[in-house]
Amino acid sequence: MNLHEPMRGAGRYAPSPSGDLHLGNLRTALLAWLFARSTGRAFLMRIEDLDRARDAGSGEQQLADLASLGIEWDGPAVLQTDRGEDHAAAIAKLDDLGLLYECTCSRKDILAAPSAPHAPPGAYPGTCRDRTDAEREAARAAIAPRLPALRLRAPAGMNSLKFVDVTLGDVVGDIDDFVLRRGDGTVAYNLAVVVDDAAMGVDQVVRGSDLAPSTPRQILLQQLLKLPTPPDVEYAHVPLVLGPSGQRLAKRDGAVTLPQLRAQGVTDAAVLRVLAESLGLIGRTHEKEQITTDLLLERFDPRTLPRDPWTWPGVIS
Ligand code: GLU
Ligand code: ZN
Repeated sequence: MNLHEPMRGAGRYAPSPSGDLHLGNLRTALLAWLFARSTGRAFLMRIEDLDRARDAGSGEQQLADLASLGIEWDGPAVLQTDRGEDHAAAIAKLDDLGLLYECTCSRKDILAAPSAPHAPPGAYPGTCRDRTDAEREAARAAIAPRLPALRLRAPAGMNSLKFVDVTLGDVVGDIDDFVLRRGDGTVAYNLAVVVDDAAMGVDQVVRGSDLAPSTPRQILLQQLLKLPTPPDVEYAHVPLVLGPSGQRLAKRDGAVTLPQLRAQGVTDAAVLRVLAESLGLIGRTHEKEQITTDLLLERFDPRTLPRDPWTWPGVIS
C-alpha cells in the first residue's frame, strides 16, 4: 500500500444473509477488502436483508466468519432494512421526474406477452407502460388484493449501456423497464444497492462477476438520481468459484462454509491459505509461514488477478 496516498473513498462487501458464506463468497469478500485497502480506501460492510426469505441470525454468523479470516471493516455493519427512508425518498424522486409506472403483470403475463421490437431477450414487454388513468385503475382492481409493482420508465431508445470494469474491461448490459419496488412493497436490489452505496460514500464496488449484467441498470439509476457514477465510481467484477462439478459453487458441493470446514478439522488459517493460493498471492515458499490478510495485502496487485473462474478442488489438505 502506498502510505503517501491519503485515505479516500470506500469499498464494501454486501452479503445477503441467506445462510453461511461459502468459499466463493469468502473469496469475493477477501478481494473486496484487498481492492479497498490497497487503494487506501475505507472498507464498509452492509447486510442486504431486504429479502423476507432471509435466515434470521445468518448475518451475524457471516460477519463473525469474515472477521475470523482477518477481513475487518470500518464502523458498524449497515443493515439494509434500516435504510427504508432513503429508499422511499429515491422512489419519490423518480416518481416526481415522471419515471415510474405501475405494473400489474404477473410473471406468467410477462412470459406470455409478445416482446417489443428491438428489445433485448427477456426484457419487460412494456404491457403497462402507457396506460390511461382509467386503464390503470381497472388493472389495479383486477389484481386486488395484490398490489402493482413500480417499474422504471427507461429512457426512450435506450436498450443497453456500457461501462468499463476494472477486471472485465468493457461490459455492455441490457436496459429495460426494470422493477424498482415489488407489489409487496419491498424495494428492488438494483435501487437499494445504488442508494445505499451512494449514502455510504462507496466509490469502489467489488463483487462476483454474476452481478456484472445488473450494473448497467444501476448506473442508469445513478444518473437519473444524480448520484456518483463511473468514472467516479469504480467497478471490479471478480471471477466466480466453481464446484468440482464445474457449476457455480453451491451448498450441494459438500463442506464449503467455514462452520462446515471447521467441523471437518480444517482451520480458518488453512482456508485463508487456499484462497490466497487460488489468487496467486502465495506459493511454495510460503509453506511454513503463517498467512495473514496483511501479508496478502502487501502482495496484492489487481493487474495479476486471475481472470478465469477458480475451481474448488473439493478438499483442503
Ligand atoms: N447482496 C448481493 C449478493 O449477495 C451482492 C450485492 C452487491 O455486492 O452489489 O449477491
Ligand atoms: Zn406490467
